[in-house]
Amino acid sequence: MKLISQIPFKTLKSTPSGSDNRSTGYLLQAGFIRQELAGAYIFTTLGLRVLRNIETIVREEMNRIGSNEILMTALWSKEHWLQAWRWDEIDVLFKLPAAEGREYALNPTHEEIVTPLIGEFIRSYKDLENCSVYQLQWKFRNEKRAKSWLLRGREFLMKDMYSFHRSAEELDTYFDVVHAAYDRVYERLGLKDTTYYTFASGGDFTKYSYEFQTDVGIGEDMAYICTHCGQSHNEEIIDSKDFTCLECGKKECDVKKVSEVGNIFKLGTRFSDAFWLKYQDKEGKENPVYMGCYGIGISRLMGVIAEKFCDDKWLIWPETIAPYTHYMIVMGDNLERARALAEYLEKDGAQVLIDDRDTGFGSKAGDADILGIPYRIVVSDKTIAAGGYELKSRLMNDVEIIEIHA
Ligand SMILES: [Zn+2]
Repeated sequence: MKLISQIPFKTLKSTPSGSDNRSTGYLLQAGFIRQELAGAYIFTTLGLRVLRNIETIVREEMNRIGSNEILMTALWSKEHWLQAWRWDEIDVLFKLPAAEGREYALNPTHEEIVTPLIGEFIRSYKDLENCSVYQLQWKFRNEKRAKSWLLRGREFLMKDMYSFHRSAEELDTYFDVVHAAYDRVYERLGLKDTTYYTFASGGDFTKYSYEFQTDVGIGEDMAYICTHCGQSHNEEIIDSKDFTCLECGKKECDVKKVSEVGNIFKLGTRFSDAFWLKYQDKEGKENPVYMGCYGIGISRLMGVIAEKFCDDKWLIWPETIAPYTHYMIVMGDNLERARALAEYLEKDGAQVLIDDRDTGFGSKAGDADILGIPYRIVVSDKTIAAGGYELKSRLMNDVEIIEIHA
C-alpha cells in the first residue's frame, strides 16, 4: 500500500492539449509523464508503475519460451557499426562524437552487439540447442521530428530479443514459438482483439517482416486488412490503387490507421556473415548461424494501452496494467481502519493507493477518476455506519457496500 500524501507528483485540474492523441492529455493530467524534449519523456512514480507492469508481462512471456534476459550497452563504437555496414545505412542512428576523435552510436537496435557477444560462446552445434537472449533497454533514434508523444520517441523503452539457429528450418520453428508468445503478451495487455498480424517490408534482410499492429484509432501506419481472410498488410508493401491480398488473392479490404506494437524478423545470415558467426556440425564442418530478431515497444505500448482504455473524460486502466488496483478514499478519523483494510485486500493480490490527504471528498474522488484506477473504495463514518466500506468498479460503474473484515 502507498499513502498518496507521500507522493510529490500532483494531478492537474484540466486536460492539457497539444497532442492529437487524447490519451496523452490524460497521462499528463494524471501526472504519469512529463516531456523533457519532444520524443523523450520522464515517467513519474505512478507512470513508472504502469511501465513496469507492461515490462513484467513481456518479461514473463519471454522467460516462458526459454529466452535469457541480458542487458547490453546503450553506447557502442563506430567500428562495430561499420562491420555490418550500417553506420551510414540507418538514417536515424544517433552518432556521438567522443574524446580523442572517437565516434560512438546510441543504439536503436542491437544486432551489431549481440552477434559478436554470442559468437564468443558458440562453438559446436550443441551450443545452438536453445540459444535466445533478450533485453529491456532504452533505445535511441535521431528523428527529425517526434510529434506523436509516446508513439514515436527519440528515446524509448524496447524489449528486443535475438535467436540463433543451426538452419533456416530451426529458425522457422522458433519463429512460430515467438509468434505464439507475442499473442499471449497482447492478450494479457488487453489488446488482442484489436491487434493484427501484418505483412510488412523486410528491408534488405528478407522479403517480408511481420508486424503486430493495433487499431486504437491513432498511429503512424496504415493497415490494409483483407475483408475475406482477415490478413493485414502494411501500406508500404501494397499497391494502394490495386490491393491484392497476399494470403488469399482477393481484392477487397478495410483500411485502418494503426500503431505498431511489435515486430518479428527473420534475419537469416545477414549479421552472422558480417561477424563471422559460425558453428561446427557433427562432421566438424563449419556452417553459418541463422538469426531472428523480435521487438516490442514497451513505452509505446503505454501510449497505445492508454488510448484504448480511456473514454471521453479519462483513463480506465485494465487491472493488470494499472499503477494500483484500488484507490482508497479515507474520510474522517479512519486512517488506521483503512490501513488495516488495505493490508487485508493486499493479501488477496490487490494493490492499494490510500488517499489520506486532508481535503474534501470531491477532490479525492476526482483524482481517483483522473488516475484511472479500476476500483474505488470509500472508508468514512457514513460507510462504516452502513456496515463497511463502499466499493465502486470504474468499468461497471456500480457501487456496493461491503463488510469490513479487517
Ligand atoms: Zn485475404
